[in-house]
Amino acid sequence: MVAVVWSRELPAEPSSVRVYQDSLGHWYCSFVVPAQVQPLPKTGRVLGVDWGVKETATTTSDAHDLPHAEHGRKAQTKLTRYDRMMARRKPKKGQPGSKGYREAKKWRAKTYAKIARQREDTGRKRAKKVVRDHDAVAVEDFKPKFLARTTMAKKAADAAIGATKQALIEMGRKHGRDIRLVHPAHTTMDCAHCGARAKHRLPLGERTYTCTVCGTASPRDKNSARVMLVRAGLNPAGAEGTRPPGALLQEAA
Ligand SMILES: [Zn+2]
Repeated sequence: MVAVVWSRELPAEPSSVRVYQDSLGHWYCSFVVPAQVQPLPKTGRVLGVDWGVKETATTTSDAHDLPHAEHGRKAQTKLTRYDRMMARRKPKKGQPGSKGYREAKKWRAKTYAKIARQREDTGRKRAKKVVRDHDAVAVEDFKPKFLARTTMAKKAADAAIGATKQALIEMGRKHGRDIRLVHPAHTTMDCAHCGARAKHRLPLGERTYTCTVCGTASPRDKNSARVMLVRAGLNPAGAEGTRPPGALLQEAA
């Protein structure tokens, strides 16, 4: 006897089914269903998205910036504890793992799966809002560099970006929105207003991008988000919070 839990109703007759078992021994079925686009009303607005570590995303609309979700912090402590438990209970070479070792391993896998679920859930919620409010979205085509990343915080930041980007692509497809992936090279060096490229990479601590050609100054990540729009061929006039070039300088003066 198997108890079936449906995660959601099938929208149409499935064409195939795949059955698999995860590391915890749970069985899953995934169905392939022909995609049905559920169009949303036009908004006349576009959005540029720049990924980051401190903020998961900075966008051309202040209302759509995504702070780094802190969930998983408690779970992270748990993971560390289970890691230590496993190390203490580690079986000798050639010996089968003790009951305690297997238990710790199972708890660890469970906690890990929970964090991943929360992350995907948050990604989907955020993607939904972005897709609902914009006709087209220019997204930095970020490739997670898990192996190069050393600290837990950076790994978590990478994973959050990966989940949110994936959710944006899927949600955009589902609702017939125009999601454009932008190559990330030089996006922090280009001026979103005149297109000039800075001669040097901006130091990480420098939070303001000041263009030496047109004189425009804007918050670094906001400039990058706008560069995404321009590179994707979307009209920045459709972005919320757009200021005329030089506006920030005048305010500062
Ligand atoms: Zn410029």
